[in-house]
Amino acid sequence: MAERMGNQHGIIDQETNPCKTCGAVCCGPYVIIEFSKDERDFLRSAGTQMISLDDFPAKTQIDGNGFYHLTSKCGFVVDKEGFKKCDAYDDPKRPVICGKFKAGGISCKELRYAREAGIGYRFGY
Ligand code: SF4
Ligand code: SF4
Repeated sequence: MAERMGNQHGIIDQETNPCKTCGAVCCGPYVIIEFSKDERDFLRSAGTQMISLDDFPAKTQIDGNGFYHLTSKCGFVVDKEGFKKCDAYDDPKRPVICGKFKAGGISCKELRYAREAGIGYRFGY
């Protein structure tokens, strides 16, 4: 990705960027995410490990997509400028859902809280 704006997902004030104090928990184990097959293959091309949840009891937002449980950190997570960033930020193959997850948004806060509290992973984005 061309230089991203300093966070995992979305553009925010760099002074208060929560990604600077996060281990990119939204891009690693403990999350279940909806991907298309092309998006799944794109992440796998970078070494991302995931399990297909064929019987997951929820409907995908887009027909043809599937739910996947990441079992490793996404292979596009890189250490840059002192914290973890997405190395596919400007790649057109980057999953659409990655761009919808906003740093500092409610899902980000809930996910970080769940991880710190050790109460398991949060469903999806
Ligand atoms: S969970 Fe939130 S703070 Fe952490 S990397 Fe993802 S968007 Fe940034
Ligand atoms: S492609 Fe980027 S934003 Fe999406 S899961 Fe991987 S590291 Fe995170």
